[in-house]
Amino acid sequence: MVPRVIFGRGSFNQLSDILTPKRLGINAPFIFLVDDVFKSNSWLTSRIPLSYEDIIIYISAAEEPKTDQIDILVEEIIVNSKERPSGIIGIGGGTLLDIAKAVSIMLTNEGKAEDYQGWDLVKNEAIYHVGIPTISGTGAEVSRTTVLTGPERKLGINSDFTPFDQVVLDSELTKDVPKNQWFYTGMDCYIHCIESLQGTYLNAFSQSYGDMALELCKEIFLGDDLTNIEAQEKLMMASWHGGMSIVYSQVGVAHAMSYGLSYLLGTKHGIGNCIVFNHLDEFYPEGVKLFKEMKVKHDILLPQGICTDLSDKEFDIMIDVALNLVPLWENALGKNWKKTITRKKLKLLYKKM
Ligand code: NAD
Ligand code: ZN
Repeated sequence: MVPRVIFGRGSFNQLSDILTPKRLGINAPFIFLVDDVFKSNSWLTSRIPLSYEDIIIYISAAEEPKTDQIDILVEEIIVNSKERPSGIIGIGGGTLLDIAKAVSIMLTNEGKAEDYQGWDLVKNEAIYHVGIPTISGTGAEVSRTTVLTGPERKLGINSDFTPFDQVVLDSELTKDVPKNQWFYTGMDCYIHCIESLQGTYLNAFSQSYGDMALELCKEIFLGDDLTNIEAQEKLMMASWHGGMSIVYSQVGVAHAMSYGLSYLLGTKHGIGNCIVFNHLDEFYPEGVKLFKEMKVKHDILLPQGICTDLSDKEFDIMIDVALNLVPLWENALGKNWKKTITRKKLKLLYKKM
């Protein structure tokens, strides 16, 4: 679990107090990895507490994180720092949070990021790392994984060293998220809840978090009486609880199929999950019904026909990626999932998208 978290509007201002005791020396910088959407946003960047050799590296979230991108960043940080950094601070959405987690791991572990994609392959403790979400939904701020696309697969570095040492939850940072992106990333949280709560891996621990997050999502996306500030604060907590729910269970069909879309077409996680989930009535009838209500309420039009021009070979690639995610299918449908899920069935579903 994340051992330290502060929550509150404006808590970003406490960053200096949080980091100062963690500084290892004047030559051991803090490295701030910041979504480049904030590059000319002095409201946020002027409050990043830089001292000594500390630096900000702006990174685009236009594409999801890749293993070789992590290797290049780590190399750049090693070459440019006099000493091993005091810490890595990720400021942004799931993309930047995952990059921060992966970089902090790869600064203390030899080899390439792709060597650590999987479960519990990380040998050495990561350097101190802090996560500061600026958009809510993925649960990346709380999870024990950092999802990376490598040469062979899209798979997380799942380990006890992956979670942040400190998280700062300041909902004010999410105030300028564009509406469509708010919906897609928020639905990632909603889908985490549905897949966790309907999964065979469910247990009381996971359920308690999932139930809370699902209630919050309903209030936020179907209710009418929240102020903007309340909605931002509640979505931040929903993301956290949804993330906690899947840490102790697993996601399901939407995530498995969305990984296929992402691997082949580069479709981003939030929107990809929405595109898939829209067609999963058979697996999650109630969840999909509510999702469609939320979509209408917020005037969201999802892209259609993204698989129309794909070749058989391309469908096969997506199907391979999806089918490889065995724990997700097992969680969704139980040990005998292969009886329900065939290549033909997945192809038919992808063709609808
Ligand atoms: P994101 O980080 O990709 O950002 C989406 C868009 O929103 C970007 O254009 C970004 O610049 C913009 N944005 C972010 N904050 C903003 C703000 N405050 N104002 C204006 N624009 C802002 O989106 P995401 O949905 O949070 O993250 C998706 C990523 O998270 C994927 O790479 C996915 O694999 C990963 N993920 C990780 C986990 C995990 O447990 N580690 C879980 C789910 C998803
Ligand atoms: Zn997700």
